[in-house]
Amino acid sequence: MNYELQTMNYELRTMNYLKLKFLTKSIWVFHAACSPCNNCDIEVLDLLTPRYDVERFGMVLVGSVRHADALLVTGIPNYKTAERIKKLYTQAPKPCLVVAVGSCACGRIMFRESYNSPCALDEIIPVDVYIPGCPPKPEAMIAGIVKLINKIKGVR
Ligand code: SF4
Repeated sequence: MNYELQTMNYELRTMNYLKLKFLTKSIWVFHAACSPCNNCDIEVLDLLTPRYDVERFGMVLVGSVRHADALLVTGIPNYKTAERIKKLYTQAPKPCLVVAVGSCACGRIMFRESYNSPCALDEIIPVDVYIPGCPPKPEAMIAGIVKLINKIKGVR
C-alpha cells in the first residue's frame, strides 16, 4: 500500500471515530419503512411525542437519508423494498448506524417463508441494534437507543 493511501485510510478512520464519538450527543435518524404493517411506524412516531420526547437525547428525525447518522428500519424487505433499502444505505453518509425496529425487521417472523421475502434485513445491510416486538413499545425503542449509544461509546 502506498503512503498516500495509508494516510487517507488513517484520516478516514479518525474521521469515523470522531463522528461516532459525537453521535452520542445527537443522532439524526432517517426512518425507512421497509414494507411494514404500519404499527411499528406509529410507535416510532410516539417517540417524538412529549410523553417520550427522544429529542432530549438529541435524537431528531430527518427528511433525507443524506443528512442521517442512523437508519431506523421497520418491516420486512420484499423484492421491491430490498433494493431500495440497499440504495438508501449506500446514500447515507458513513459511518451509518442501522437499527432494526420490530420483529419483522429483526427476523421476518411469520414472513420468513413468504414467496415475496427474499432475505432478512441484516443480509442486505449491516444492522447494529435489534429492537424486537410486534410492535415494540416506545420504552423498548428508548432502551435500544441507549444500547446504541453505549455501543458507540465502546468504539475505540
Ligand atoms: S413487527 Fe409487527 S407491528 Fe411491526 S411491522 Fe411487523 S407485523 Fe407490523
